[in-house]
Amino acid sequence: MTISAAGLKFSLSIMSYTAERKLLVEFGRRLYEKGFVAGTDGNLSLLVDRDTLLITPSGAAKGRMCTDDPVLVNIEGKVLSGKRKPSSEMLLHLFVYKKRPDVKACCHAHPPYATAFSAVRKELPDNILPEIIISVGRIPLTEYAPPGTEAVPKSLEPFVNDYEAFLLANHGVLTVGRTLDDAFNKMETVEHFARILYIAAGIGAVSFLEDSEVRRLEKVRDNLKKGNTS
Ligand SMILES: [Zn+2]
Repeated sequence: MTISAAGLKFSLSIMSYTAERKLLVEFGRRLYEKGFVAGTDGNLSLLVDRDTLLITPSGAAKGRMCTDDPVLVNIEGKVLSGKRKPSSEMLLHLFVYKKRPDVKACCHAHPPYATAFSAVRKELPDNILPEIIISVGRIPLTEYAPPGTEAVPKSLEPFVNDYEAFLLANHGVLTVGRTLDDAFNKMETVEHFARILYIAAGIGAVSFLEDSEVRRLEKVRDNLKKGNTS
């Protein structure tokens, strides 16, 4: 059997970035197992170098992906290798990487409690739990944008430079991170917070932290961030 040069190049590129592909498969499985996605919902991406990323394919069940499912694309969205089409939310991922050089991974899902807040277009308050302020910060609610369209990155424009997690109106959640683990942790934290708020609201009136305490906690987060990047 002979393999053409083009065929060989394709096979090699499909097999490259094995460790990163395994991470996407692993975190896709975690999203599904945590109940943050159903069916073929959600998408994940990971930068493999400054201008290249691996992204989950369109129409894939995130809990059951194989290592050759993620699609290698450049920062302009051109497919470099892969047997499948990239995620329909690729424009959103590309937009984040172009705007945020510090971000190396994006995680988009529809976790039920946080997505319920997005469905009633109620922002998750940023002055209730100290650990949310320190680990994620404010979680802005974006304008509604039809999924998979250019309107989705546009809806992020006012917030993308300043925040790590975003509630997409009538849609779900996007989190960004320095690693896939970091982006996934933020997704888990946002959903946990939304669940706590839902439970607390059923018990009684939620108490808000004083403004001075919120500012102090924000400083703690900023210092931690500086420590992580220095
Ligand atoms: Zn979605």
